[in-house]
This record gives sequence, structure tokens and C-alpha cells, in this order.
Amino acid sequence: ELRNVSKIYTRGLTHAHPTVALRDMSLTLKDDEPTILTVAGESGSGKTTLAMLLLGFIDPTMGEILYKGRNITSLTGAERLAYRREVQAVFQDPFAVFNPFYTVDHLLTVPIRQFKLARSKVQARSLMEEALTAVGLRPEDVLGRFPHQLSGGQRQRINVARALLLRPRLLIADEPVSMVDASLRANILETLRNLQRDYGVSIIYITHDLTTAYHIAKSIIVLYRGSVMEAGDVDAVIKSPQHPYTQLLVDSIPWPNLDQRWGEHPIIARESGSTGSSDACPFMSRCPKAMDICKARPPLYQITASQVAACYLYDKQPELVAERLSELL
Ligand code: SF4
Repeated sequence: ELRNVSKIYTRGLTHAHPTVALRDMSLTLKDDEPTILTVAGESGSGKTTLAMLLLGFIDPTMGEILYKGRNITSLTGAERLAYRREVQAVFQDPFAVFNPFYTVDHLLTVPIRQFKLARSKVQARSLMEEALTAVGLRPEDVLGRFPHQLSGGQRQRINVARALLLRPRLLIADEPVSMVDASLRANILETLRNLQRDYGVSIIYITHDLTTAYHIAKSIIVLYRGSVMEAGDVDAVIKSPQHPYTQLLVDSIPWPNLDQRWGEHPIIARESGSTGSSDACPFMSRCPKAMDICKARPPLYQITASQVAACYLYDKQPELVAERLSELL
């Protein structure tokens, strides 16, 4: 559970030039309702900061992150180890976790040893085979091999298998298919979806790519410069985006068949390094519909039962307090 979490980066000892990477994010995932939630946005949107916060690699500047009711920054040694086991990650670069001098067996043995998952080599081998099979690999094709002998798709599946060995409750998948050949992406996404269904693990899928989000997720949060722009049911948000930024993202998707485009949104993106005031709508400098009122940061407005957007174009709609965002997801 994230409660009003913000992360502000500053430079040097003087804490100069504060940059808000994530602003006032509230979110709850329930253990008994496993789901796939996409967090989408471009570079600098705060999505990787969110992943780092959830993994406990960095601490929030404001707000709290709770796991089973405990603040993760104050977990004791054993609790922290349990958290590290139950919250796993798969990162973008499928090569990065491999040591080129060791085989796949070694990579998979490390978590088995660290968390004492097996009492014998036979049991360890059986756990590895089960995890590899669950991600669609034949153990005999990959065990005993070195990383350079594997394809990018195989390496990324092995990363997922390594996380799966620990029977996580939450898997943070940060751009897991962006460095994999396009022909293999659908297979890996399908694997993640099967894991959510078969093992009851919740997945936070982080991406800049709305097409893969549409393929895999139940719900979506669209971030821009650290703030939630739009959120809700993935089908509703991608087929009928309401926020000008989401409309821009959807319009920039190169759909293979133009008839598949659901709407036309005449947005002209203007790149800008600044939003003007930090109190303004973060998208103001790029938004062709900007108004005077946008100089103040908009709240989230409830557009339908399953969709919210932070935009004054919907100021006739009821406001949604950030803490209730999870009820839509
Ligand atoms: Fe555009 Fe204003 Fe809506 Fe921001 S609040 S997206 S500037 S119309």
C-alpha cells in the first residue's frame, strides 16, 4: 500500500534543484485479489522511481509504503528478507543479471541457497525445472548453458523463472520486453499473464508502450512528470482516453490497421523542458487545450465508474481523492 508517497531528488549537500519524481501517489494491491496493473509513461514520468520505491531500493521523501500493515522502511532483518522474497523484480535488460562466467544453473541456485528453498541438490534441480517449465522453457534446453548461448527471449524467461522460484506475491516487471525481439514479446507477456493466473501473483507492469499494456493488464495508471494523469480499466483508458496526454500517447501508437484506431485527437505535442510553475498542471506546456485555470494543479475527476483523469476539462465531474484511486484498479 502506498499512502501519499512522493519522491523528491535533490543535488549535492545543499539539496539544490529539487526534482519531484513522484507526487502524492496512493495505491493498494490486495493479496487475495491478484491483478496486473500497468504503470505507463514516457522517460522521466516517475515509473522507474515507483519500482525502486516498491523494491525498497530508495525511501520515499514523504508518505509511507506499507506491506502487510508494516512500513517497509522500518522492517527488521528477518522481515526485510521476507519482503525481498515476496516482492520480486524483472528488469529491462535480460543480460544484466547474468554473470557471463556462470551457467544458468548457477544463477538459479543463488536464490535457492540464499532462501534455503531446497535440502538437497536433487530437490534444487527439481525446483529449477519446475520454474523453467512454468515460464515455457524446456529445462534441458537451458540448464548447463552460459548466457551467450541463449537468446534474449530465453534470458528474460530465465529471469522470470528466477523470480518465480521464490513464490513472490508481487512481481515488478520494469519494461521486461523492451529489449527483446518484437517476435518474442507476445510470448513473454503471455507467460506473465499465465503466472498471474496460475500462481496468484500480482504484477506491476511498467512500460512506455500502451500496446503491450493493452495486451496484458487489467488496469492502468498513466504517469507524466511524476503525477497521475489518468487511471482506470485498461480497456476504457486505451479505447477512450480522456486526458489530453493519454490521447497523445494513444494517437502516437502505430496501429497496424488504421481502422483499428478508436479515435482522432488533434493534439500537437510541443516538447518543452518546463511546465512553468510547479503548481500548474504538469502537462500544461504541451497541452493545446490549456486554460488559465490550469495554472493550478488539477485534482483527479471521476469520469466513469472505471476511469479518472486529472484535467480541468472534466471539472463538472466529481473529484476523487487520491487515496481512493485503488478502488478503480
Ligand atoms: Fe490540459 Fe489544462 Fe487538462 Fe492540464 S488541466 S491537461 S493543461 S486542459
